[in-house]
Amino acid sequence: MADRIFLSSPHMSEEGYEQQYVQEAFDTNWIAPLGTNVNEFEKELAEKVGTKAAAALSSGTAAIHLALKAAEVGEGDIVFCSTLTFSATANPIIYQNATPVFIDCDEKTWNMDPIALEEAFEKYPEVKAVIVVHLYGLSADMDKIMEICKKYNVTVIEDAAESLGGYYKGQHTGTFGDYGIYSFNGNKIITTSGGGMLVSNNEEEIARARFWATQSRDQARHYQHSELGFNYRMSNVVAGIGRGQLKVLDKRVQKKKYIYEYYKKELGHLEGLSFMPVNDWDQPNYWLSSLTLSGAVKPIDIFNALEAENIESRPIWKPMHMQPFFEEFDFIGEGVSEKLFEKGVCLPSDTKMTEYDLTKVTTIVKELW
Ligand SMILES: *Cc1c(COP(=O)(O)O)cnc(C)c1O
Repeated sequence: MADRIFLSSPHMSEEGYEQQYVQEAFDTNWIAPLGTNVNEFEKELAEKVGTKAAAALSSGTAAIHLALKAAEVGEGDIVFCSTLTFSATANPIIYQNATPVFIDCDEKTWNMDPIALEEAFEKYPEVKAVIVVHLYGLSADMDKIMEICKKYNVTVIEDAAESLGGYYKGQHTGTFGDYGIYSFNGNKIITTSGGGMLVSNNEEEIARARFWATQSRDQARHYQHSELGFNYRMSNVVAGIGRGQLKVLDKRVQKKKYIYEYYKKELGHLEGLSFMPVNDWDQPNYWLSSLTLSGAVKPIDIFNALEAENIESRPIWKPMHMQPFFEEFDFIGEGVSEKLFEKGVCLPSDTKMTEYDLTKVTTIVKELW
């Protein structure tokens, strides 16, 4: 049987950059904990996206958690959060014993709806922070969202886990708010096998995040702690993989874009099928090529037809306010996210896909019409 075609799976550089950096860590015995690769990966990523500082962490989830902590979100505080996302965006709100309020998306961006956000502020003016997601690499309308958040003087955390390498009006997603986070989980556009990054222009807060991430050890010969600590730091081996992957990020974005354009050209004309919205101001990283169906062919038909040929596809993420675990929390919006979940399909968008693979996918899909 042919190899499985994945939604998005690890793709190391053809040049072997990752292994060179990992080898350096081995040669110097700097396997752990910290070392050159961690420091350089932070610098290189901050430079790439254009922030003053970055903290390399064990996951994107850890980065969100520490961003919330930096924003002083604690017990009983309200945090607005995009509902159309992966659960890792919302879980850290619960880690901090805070209360999420889920905000709907709009058709125009598939991301946080500024109108619903405004409505949420009217209902909960005491809100402590907002987490805005850039789903599938598409950017949220950051000008509008930042304008509203500034008016209410609230901390903004951008979950750019899926959108590294993408831009909004020429500026990297993840760099508009007070904090941005990226993920290097195995399915992301670049991966370290697992890891994350917290970025900010506030160097002091990034230093604090590094402190919390290494068990909050005070300056003392003996182990001394005045604050709760976490074991959230990235290892030097993992950071070596990240440095190598960062070198091919632009190439990976190009390939993701090629995949999206290929699908659009081949499938865009099919009755009832519409692709994810790419706005004028948006330069996505096209992490996952996604679409919605409103005709006779249903998402399940595509999932089944592709699965029969050992090809992965998935529904659009199930909104957080519909998840059993988060059901009890408030939701503001008209239910656009619910409709996207019902009608949506994520097509395989793996950067290792060949022309043959792409033709195979589009042929199978077209046969359903
Ligand atoms: C993957 C992902 C995360 C979590 O990143 P991890 O590194 O896996 O912890 C957070 N938010 C979104 C939207 C994601 O897709």
